[in-house]
Amino acid sequence: MLGAIEAGGTKFVLAVGPSPDEITARHTIPTRAPETTLAEAAAWFDAQGRITALGIGSFGPVDLDPASLGWGRITNTPKAGWADCDIAGFFIDRLGVLVGFDTDVNAAALAEYRAAQGEGCRSLAYLTIGTGIGGGLVLDGQPVHGAAHPELGHIYPRRHPLDADFAGICPHHGDCLEGLASGPAIHARWGASLSGLSQDHPAHAIIADYVAQACHTLFASLAVERVVIGGGVAQTPGLAARIAARTAQLGADYLPGGQRHRVTAPRLGDDAGITGALMLAAAAR
Ligand code: ZN
Repeated sequence: MLGAIEAGGTKFVLAVGPSPDEITARHTIPTRAPETTLAEAAAWFDAQGRITALGIGSFGPVDLDPASLGWGRITNTPKAGWADCDIAGFFIDRLGVLVGFDTDVNAAALAEYRAAQGEGCRSLAYLTIGTGIGGGLVLDGQPVHGAAHPELGHIYPRRHPLDADFAGICPHHGDCLEGLASGPAIHARWGASLSGLSQDHPAHAIIADYVAQACHTLFASLAVERVVIGGGVAQTPGLAARIAARTAQLGADYLPGGQRHRVTAPRLGDDAGITGALMLAAAAR
């Protein structure tokens, strides 16, 4: 039996199953202080019987360098109490299992990549647009790690002409993608969620433009075949179609392989992250 954790800033999703294709039990707990949340998660796994390996897809930033003493830790997160939390180490000690560890979005990208295998897709990015914006990358079957891990939410899009006066809300960059197009950024200038604004409100085209620029950047820089867009904001009615149309416009028929570039919704829906965490467990075993 494999165990999996999708560790988010507001909730932890826990699951067990014999393979990434089958979740036999799942449980969700709120994210509180690390000592409380990690103990609660471990107790749930205890009650499920013996697991042989655990996969963790975690909010970040995290240390993914296997040669680092800090591997398996959440690093400098602003989330109170979680900075420098040795999340992988806790479960290695507490449950006595092998642990596979990656970002929540790389885990989701892995699961979506696997789901797209039947269509010959070899490279994929997963973007989540919600309280924050994050992105995972899988190229030729491998999640991308470099100096650390991708931080696709913090690229700078060109400003939309109808949005020139908003400073953006990212505490580090101001008007990066997350600072302009995340749920809180939408609330900050229009006082509502995107779903709460009428379909003819300019916010829809503005947000679609920023996300489309990120898709175009991924197609043009990494030549990924597919960008999968998940998260709460992405579920706004009509937004996916606007993003796809705007991305096609930005590509202007120029990009080689343009016919193979696709912007899609997650095939696995909300299960992408936890399924990817099961894949991390299977790979660690
Ligand atoms: Zn930023």
